[in-house]
Amino acid sequence: MNNKKILCIVTAAAILVSSPLFSNAAPAKNANIEVTTTSMNQNNDCIIYQPGFFYESITDEIKQRINGLSYKEDCTVPYEDLRYLNVLYVDFNGKSQTGELICNKAIAQDLVEIFYELYQAQYPIDKIKLIDEYNADDDLSCLEDNTSCFNYRVVSGSTSLSKHALGLAIDINPFYNPYVTYPNGKIRITPPGSEAYANREAAFPHKIHKNDLCYQLFTAHGFTWGGNWKSLKDYQHFQKSITK
Ligand SMILES: [Zn+2]
Repeated sequence: MNNKKILCIVTAAAILVSSPLFSNAAPAKNANIEVTTTSMNQNNDCIIYQPGFFYESITDEIKQRINGLSYKEDCTVPYEDLRYLNVLYVDFNGKSQTGELICNKAIAQDLVEIFYELYQAQYPIDKIKLIDEYNADDDLSCLEDNTSCFNYRVVSGSTSLSKHALGLAIDINPFYNPYVTYPNGKIRITPPGSEAYANREAAFPHKIHKNDLCYQLFTAHGFTWGGNWKSLKDYQHFQKSITK
């Protein structure tokens, strides 16, 4: 953890304790707190939603981690349009963990709010790592059941850019919520090994469905769910369209 991140978290905790939320005064309707940190970094725009849930511009340190991986040489999305997120989550063992995401700045606030609600509800998420830790290989990340967002790539099996390329889509617990397509009329289920979870009539843990908190939070924030698509099913996938 770098000094800036520690500063971000400590500042958030200090602000929260001294905020009206912790006094007799009526809590603020929107507890979103903007904090400018002092750091040696050129970026100083850390937005803290709650302790452990914050986002900021892409720092040089993050650029070094994603350059040539999720942020490919031909990436047309400027760094300024992306945000790095720190969130907390409860893993499959019930343990609290820290997760990292990169997304479009247009959905950064949505994501910290959603992941905060999921954390409060102890919604189990297997892991949340930058896809760069899987060499920006979507197949590998999904096979490892990793939740991730930004990756400059095309839609699997096509030549068109994915919403993930813009940081406007996120895949949640992808092994238990597979991607189902029908190339040449034949069913194809990825990641390999997740075939049993393509049967959405079956009951199993970590299944995203319409009564699931994950579905409810993302749709309430204006995202569409790939499980509602007709020609294919992408049960792990939520995306948001933005108008410029
Ligand atoms: Zn996806």
